[in-house]
Amino acid sequence: MQYVSTRAKNTVVTGAQAIVKGLSEDGGLFVPSEFPAISKQELTAMEDMEYSERAAFVISKFLTDFSLEELNDYTKKAYARFYDGDPCPLVAIDDKTYILELWHGPTCAFKDMALTLLPHLMVASRKKVGETSKTLILVATSGDTGKAALEGFKDVEGCEIIVFYPSEGVSDMQKLQMQTQTGDNVYVCAIKGNFDDAQSAVKVIFNDDNVKAQLLENGYKLSSANSINWGRLVPQIAYYVSSYVDMLSSGEIEFGDKINFCVPSGNFGNILAGYYAMRMGVPINKLICASNKNKVLTDFFSSGKYDINRDFYKTMSPSMDILISSNLERLLFEISGRDDKYVADLMNSLKNKGYYEIDFAKLQANAANFEGGFSNEDMTMYTIADFYDENDYLLDTHTAVAVGVYKAYQENSGDDTKTVIVSTASPYKFPQDVYNALTGEFVQNSINAADMLEEYTGFDIPEPLQNLQSRVVRFKDVIEKDQIKQAVLNAIKK
Ligand SMILES: *Cc1c(COP(=O)(O)O)cnc(C)c1O
Repeated sequence: MQYVSTRAKNTVVTGAQAIVKGLSEDGGLFVPSEFPAISKQELTAMEDMEYSERAAFVISKFLTDFSLEELNDYTKKAYARFYDGDPCPLVAIDDKTYILELWHGPTCAFKDMALTLLPHLMVASRKKVGETSKTLILVATSGDTGKAALEGFKDVEGCEIIVFYPSEGVSDMQKLQMQTQTGDNVYVCAIKGNFDDAQSAVKVIFNDDNVKAQLLENGYKLSSANSINWGRLVPQIAYYVSSYVDMLSSGEIEFGDKINFCVPSGNFGNILAGYYAMRMGVPINKLICASNKNKVLTDFFSSGKYDINRDFYKTMSPSMDILISSNLERLLFEISGRDDKYVADLMNSLKNKGYYEIDFAKLQANAANFEGGFSNEDMTMYTIADFYDENDYLLDTHTAVAVGVYKAYQENSGDDTKTVIVSTASPYKFPQDVYNALTGEFVQNSINAADMLEEYTGFDIPEPLQNLQSRVVRFKDVIEKDQIKQAVLNAIKK
């Protein structure tokens, strides 16, 4: 399997090269040259495998320059870091609604599904391509990627990691998790601005030959742990396949029955992995893309116009407070019939004018499986309280967006297809808002809020979020967004 750039199809690399590079030199994203098929026999055989084996099997279809044995070793190590048993349990709420919990990893967000594995893939890929310089991982985070990448890459040989987060754009709990990060090869810094500012600044560095030359002089090459890196996306395909297999083995569906997935979306990486699973042959009816008040994706799916000339809102689902959903570029590549010039033009238009527009008929024809919807703040609060009352199940603020969107979709469409709601974070990562939704009381301190939420609901605080207050704060820097280059250069010279 080869990988091509979405902006220049004649740029062809191996899986290992795609992972080490992170981003193509033309600014495009690497995508597989074709979609490998998964057969009925293979899906059925997966019923007897544990999750790490299922993941290795799915990934092996894409990363053909890795052996299955090698991948099994990495997935076993990665998913052994999850704190209780099954890394992604599928919980039945009723006979048509299921919740896929992806937050049982070391940082309690779905990013762990990929970021516990990516360091193994990165180290192996470096060997395969004969890389001798150090890999410098640059991350822009809206909250959860940063911590998960730090945990994944801390003290990994040959790698250093720098994380930039918007100083006022992450939850207290997320901030505390990052500021107290341990490890000798890590640096964390806040940026005055929002997530898009941080992401754009990081992208500029990736395309800045001058900075890259200076880094190389110091023995570093850049890579990315954001979902623009193929090594982040490929592990995510596995849980879509695996949850279909779970539905089969629990007798909820028979082979061939289609299911829906509803995904709380920001950078569009999670749901895109679901689309790739569908392209492999997993029977999927609808992929419901749920947004918060920053509903640029909802508007795109209903009009064909992607327009970031709009207000940016800070919401209680900060990991979805994004206007530039980078991975949509990969979908555009597919729905345009893999037209690289066209994708490059759209991305230029986005950069220069802040919008692009595609032919709506083409969108409807080639992305028919996608539905968009959004939930505003009131609706999200209501959903958390209502779902708790009805089902004795505690949603975090991001998953609540998805549940709200799904309920509205279901009512409007009458679609009774069994639906998996992808749950992306533990409610204890956002305890103030969740507690407020349940009780009407906003607790100022997030640690207190977590304790009160635990007492109120009886659901335990996950182990990785316990005792955060007793950890040492190591990183307090806050910089202007135009100082990011200098911050990178300073960090590597330390
Ligand atoms: C990152 C994140 C999302 C958004 O996922 P994308 O892949 O960026 O669309 C949603 N919820 C949580 C909790 C996240 O951390």
